[in-house]
Amino acid sequence: MSATPLLHVRALSARYGSAQALFGISFDLPTNSAIAVLGPNGAGKSTLARTISGLIPATAGTIEFNGTNITRHSADKIRREGLIHLPEGRGVFARLTVMENLRLALAVDKVDRSEAIARAFDYFPVLAKRRKQIAGTLSGGEQQMLSLARALMVNPKVVIADEMSLGLAPKMVDTVFDALTAARQEGVSVIMIEQFAGRAIQFADHCLILQRGNLAWSGPAHKAGDELLHRYLGSA
Ligand code: ATP
Repeated sequence: MSATPLLHVRALSARYGSAQALFGISFDLPTNSAIAVLGPNGAGKSTLARTISGLIPATAGTIEFNGTNITRHSADKIRREGLIHLPEGRGVFARLTVMENLRLALAVDKVDRSEAIARAFDYFPVLAKRRKQIAGTLSGGEQQMLSLARALMVNPKVVIADEMSLGLAPKMVDTVFDALTAARQEGVSVIMIEQFAGRAIQFADHCLILQRGNLAWSGPAHKAGDELLHRYLGSA
């Protein structure tokens, strides 16, 4: 294992106004790896994602990404450094076409545009067929693909995927997981936030379980067995 993890999070805390939502979370994301972040509703999973990606400030602790302390960097800068957060919900521009959505995602990134678009269509060939279609008229699954394509096309170092499979038909969930598996083979590391544990644990190397803003359990994903999940999540 390499000495310096890609992402090194230490004693990270965050709050909304006077309500503390994260209490001193520490974990490492090694290069070329995937972590599943699990926990019941309101445990702090999305807050952890927002804090790491700079959308809300850390009130304590540090985040090092690729050897740089990014704790006080803006969300835009963090994105440009290669850490892309896909927030819960589809996040596509409903009135624009598929192609316009892809091009807009490239406006802020220093990448070869045609290569990036080709990469998006490699991940999700159906988007090439739908390139002129208005995004709002795509199915929920296709919108999710577009959202993921916008992230993966820029060759990020880390993708934080928040509840990607929420509300998707099982076949679409497979498509999303297949794309993330392909992304891993391209060297993308993944932080996968999921309320439903099974698939995430199969996908990930390591697992974190949050409870009321605290890190309740952390270990290799294969050790996150039914009994443990039942204890923390109330389901296996
Ligand atoms: P879910 O699975 O429901 O998304 P979660 O584990 O992602 O849950 P968070 O959304 O991070 O949990 O919420 C953690 C805590 O912070 C909860 O108590 C929640 O009510 C609170 N919280 C989340 N977002 C906000 C906000 N924008 N303003 C105030 N409090 C918030």
